[in-house]
Amino acid sequence: MAEKVQQTSQQPIVKIGHYTLGQTLGVGTFGKVKIGEHQLTKHKVAVKILNRQKIKSLDVVGKIRREIQNLKLFRHPHIIKLYQVISTPTDIFMIMEYVSGGELFDYIVKHGKLKEYEARRFFQQIISGVDYCHRHMIVHRDLKPENLLLDHNLHVKIADFGLSNMMMDGEFLRTSCGSPNYAAPEVISGKLYAGPEVDIWSCGVILYALLCGTLPFDDEHVPTLFRKIKSGVFPIPEYLNKTVVSMLCHMLQIDPMKRATIEDIKKHEWFQRDLPAYLFPSPVEQDSSVIDTDAVNEVCEKFGVKEQEVHSALLSGDPHDQLAIAYHLIIDNKRIADEAAKAELKDFYVASSPPPISFSPSELNPSPIRPHPERIAPALRDRVMGPNSGGGSDRPSRGTPVKRAKWHLGIRSQSKPNDIMNEVYRAMKALDFEWKVINPFHVRVRHKNALSGKYVKMSLQLYQVDYKSYLLDFKSFSSENNEENDGPSVTGADIDCDPSVCQQQNTGHHTMEFFEMCAALITQLAR
Ligand code: ADP
Repeated sequence: MAEKVQQTSQQPIVKIGHYTLGQTLGVGTFGKVKIGEHQLTKHKVAVKILNRQKIKSLDVVGKIRREIQNLKLFRHPHIIKLYQVISTPTDIFMIMEYVSGGELFDYIVKHGKLKEYEARRFFQQIISGVDYCHRHMIVHRDLKPENLLLDHNLHVKIADFGLSNMMMDGEFLRTSCGSPNYAAPEVISGKLYAGPEVDIWSCGVILYALLCGTLPFDDEHVPTLFRKIKSGVFPIPEYLNKTVVSMLCHMLQIDPMKRATIEDIKKHEWFQRDLPAYLFPSPVEQDSSVIDTDAVNEVCEKFGVKEQEVHSALLSGDPHDQLAIAYHLIIDNKRIADEAAKAELKDFYVASSPPPISFSPSELNPSPIRPHPERIAPALRDRVMGPNSGGGSDRPSRGTPVKRAKWHLGIRSQSKPNDIMNEVYRAMKALDFEWKVINPFHVRVRHKNALSGKYVKMSLQLYQVDYKSYLLDFKSFSSENNEENDGPSVTGADIDCDPSVCQQQNTGHHTMEFFEMCAALITQLAR
């Protein structure tokens, strides 16, 4: 799938699947990371290139292959999404979500020690992502600020989750050229078993670095550094808040058994402060005695195994069985989709970030935070009804309930979301439409009326309506001012469309042109 196309200049264009590779974003422990751009949609991705020659110990057969398959099912707003893995005889290409804000490491270097609330905000996001992975049986083992990337809104995105598991444990420790400053005492002592506790230690070191701008254990002389880590003694600056010190000490306990767990951190008063609800959705009770046959079939399809194998994995009670993990991830994702459908959520969730928030908790941006998938229904209810709504005021305000649209103009499909969008892009191209990608499932489209010379504009958004089907929703928008507006004023009307408002916006003339545009697109798609 990787091909080289000769360009007129010296540099050949390298294509991986549908992506054209561009400049190098960075070089990490496992290989180069390059930017990739989708040929059609121009959607940017990060492509990690692992050279098989360089990493001989990389085991991509059997269990490990299954683990990678499972990583693709992970969905969390603070974890870099893995879209696809392409293997060639020489390389392995991991196609991932691209973020543009650089490394948290550089952020600390540039800003020095952070304000307490700023450090807390980053730390809460990190712990939420780590908790999600631990619940799905993946330990990072190599958490450090270099693996914590920032998106354009300064939200943390954890990279490389699951990658260390692709290396055989002993090999990984020997080949890892990363800094050992974040490694737990039991890791540097060469103990092969590394459970969730090792990530807690690293998170403790990261929190310290965020709050102090320095490392708790540091020395240029590696044996001395190791001695310091094993002693667990670190300097506590005067300016540190006493409550955070108690949590740090609990996280940096040399005895893994005595070390804080995620639950301890979540309960801690310092952590609880200004904690956004979407980070820790309350678990939904699952009746494990009822097996979901659709999910079983999906596991069979993804892993090329027989139903019986999945049933045995589920009955074995082994939480680390990759087939069982896949089944639970699929159930989880399905539940998210169902909740979204029930709540008529009008935005297809693909591990994207919440919108920007200002650092000062008192100056929180009023735009509604895009909810965590596992929290969609309650968050949406709060948004539409108001958090404490019990009926109440008639006075219109920002949070006033608005009528939801009863009807949607769109087309429904049971294909995979990416396939649907690829067809849409092809159809738009054939029709000479111009478009702007808001996200891979939301585009603004315009088409010039040859007679009037004016643009007719609409937006297309893919929504998930139930487990397997999707609605491509067509929305008209006529106001010129809306062109550059990605904010909630346009999509707000999309989300909870009050028909009277829609009517005011659309003059009869524009409506006809909008319908013509829809008809052309539908006809093209039906070809
Ligand atoms: P390491 O092995 O040191 O953890 P990585 O291999 O994950 O580093 O990445 C190397 C560098 O490439 C990162 O530090 C970052 O600057 C860049 N990078 C990695 N993944 C992404 C991504 N998804 N989006 C943008 N940049 C990335």
